[in-house]
Amino acid sequence: MFNKLIVALMPLAPRFIVKMVSKRYIAGEDTASAMATCLRLKEQGFLTTVDILGESVTSDQQARDARDSYFDLIGEVANNDIAQNISLKPTAMGLGLSEDIANDYIGAIVRKAHEAGVFIRIDMEDSPYTDKTLAMYDRLRVQYPQLGTVIQAYMHRSLDDVTRIAVSSGNLRICKGIYKESPQIAYQDADEVRQNYLRLVKEMLKQGAYVGIATHDPFLIDESLKIIKELNIAADKYEFQALLGVPIVKRLDELVKMGHRVRIYVPFGSEWYAYSSRRLKENPDVAGYVLKNIFVRN
Ligand SMILES: Cc1cc2nc3c(=O)[nH]c(=O)nc-3n(C[C@H](O)[C@H](O)[C@H](O)COP(=O)(O)OP(=O)(O)OC[C@H]3O[C@@H](n4cnc5c(N)ncnc54)[C@H](O)[C@@H]3O)c2cc1C
Repeated sequence: MFNKLIVALMPLAPRFIVKMVSKRYIAGEDTASAMATCLRLKEQGFLTTVDILGESVTSDQQARDARDSYFDLIGEVANNDIAQNISLKPTAMGLGLSEDIANDYIGAIVRKAHEAGVFIRIDMEDSPYTDKTLAMYDRLRVQYPQLGTVIQAYMHRSLDDVTRIAVSSGNLRICKGIYKESPQIAYQDADEVRQNYLRLVKEMLKQGAYVGIATHDPFLIDESLKIIKELNIAADKYEFQALLGVPIVKRLDELVKMGHRVRIYVPFGSEWYAYSSRRLKENPDVAGYVLKNIFVRN
């Protein structure tokens, strides 16, 4: 209750309070901090994917700037001894402005990443962009196999999308879905989302397609492990994924010790305010955790 109150009051909160939250969820404001975080995680046995914070741009120039930042990031990732893996959001590349702009800029990023041996995953945003994102993914992956995208388990359409992509050996991250969607197109009930999540993971694994199992839900981690065992899936056909800062490190450590791949999503950049606000709204308990860290010194 107290934590919910903090979240409700958050728009009034000084930025330094939100920054306390962002410290937990964000690697820092610059590439050097992101690389340092990835190296630290690597020492702990984790793979990583790096993301530059920033959503929906409002001009072509902003989209071009975002593209150029990704060009630089590809160079940094390629020059560091870390997992060669990057995630990006299509609306940060102008998908909200024009499909042509986004196709152009994401196409250029994917080409550059291909030359550098870096894997790119196109994150999935809200439903106005689902078809456009999947069309872009389908078009680009013909030429660049080091490419993946994301499917959200709350969407009614997802089993059809996964089945189509799995039979052609696509690479998908499966997540529950983070945006507010209408009951006409998305499951609203948490159990229905979970059941669909497992259907999607199973479909990917059955077809031998590579799947990123992105969840912090212990039930889904357990059930996915059962599917992996039941279908006798090799450890190089899937990975578990979690967001930096979500307090399930112990569970992730166990997965690594059991021989499973675990990848941490490492966001960084100056746009930390919007990202942190979203994380805090998602789980108000974090507010209590953050306050404890501010006031209780170990
Ligand atoms: C690597 C990764 C990439 C993602 N990419 C996308 C994407 O491209 N598109 C998209 O729509 N969504 C994406 N998501 C978000 C995803 O859709 C869910 O909204 C989010 O993961 C919460 O769902 P959950 O499966 O963890 O289950 P939940 O039931 O929400 O959470 C399970 C447990 O984890 C805790 N928890 C969950 N999130 C947090 C948090 N932020 N801080 C602290 N505790 C938390 C909960 O309190 C709960 O105890 C991604 C998630 C991950 C892990």
